[in-house]
Amino acid sequence: MPPIADQLRSVRHRIELACGACGRGADEVELLAVSKTFPAAAVRQAYAAGQRAFGESYVQEAVGKLEQLQDLRADTAWHFIGPLQSNKARHVAEHFDWVHSVDRLKIAQRLSDLRPQQAPDLQVCLQVNIDGQPTKSGVAPAHLRELALAVRELPRIALRGLMCIPAPQRDPASQREVFDRLAGLLHGLNEEGLGLDTLSMGMSDDLEAAIAAGASIVRVGTAIFGARDYSS
Ligand SMILES: *Cc1c(COP(=O)(O)O)cnc(C)c1O
Repeated sequence: MPPIADQLRSVRHRIELACGACGRGADEVELLAVSKTFPAAAVRQAYAAGQRAFGESYVQEAVGKLEQLQDLRADTAWHFIGPLQSNKARHVAEHFDWVHSVDRLKIAQRLSDLRPQQAPDLQVCLQVNIDGQPTKSGVAPAHLRELALAVRELPRIALRGLMCIPAPQRDPASQREVFDRLAGLLHGLNEEGLGLDTLSMGMSDDLEAAIAAGASIVRVGTAIFGARDYSS
């Protein structure tokens, strides 16, 4: 595996090519570096290579890492993208700038209640179970509208858009079809005046299809940091 700086450069290049291929500006897509399971030192390497936005999936791991990265905190943005549990909501509300994985009103209410008064609004995406996976988290498309209308009323939360984690598919056309569906849901909500600007979709293996479908944030782990080791 080449150093993180080289990997980052090649991911940025992929994003530029994908944007060019569909007539979008490369500055329309934000790269979120997903650093879960990788140590603070890996984040520092990515930071040194110019990366400023990071994604984490496990609350405890992230809080420990953030403690070691206090010196970079003001200059970085941290996005929580993992499964949300009520009992961990306090840490998420206190430590993160964004949450992509809100999929029910109760957890949104807790994040709203627990967001520190002096902090800026927590930036929130609703996770949608876009391909009907039985075990996946995410609100069903049929219940999205109701959830979005409720979440946008909560104080200390800014509803920004939608996120999905589709089942992996090899075929770019099939990848694209699922991402188009999420984009369609965002469009539908915006026709009702919700003013959402964020589509968080696309990972190491399908970011091109996501960008073609309108992704504004791609979440990339493996292609930047390498394969994850869950054994420890
Ligand atoms: C781990 C993770 C990613 C990164 O996936 P890669 O395939 O390693 O790029 C993106 N989004 C979410 C929600 C994740 O949990």
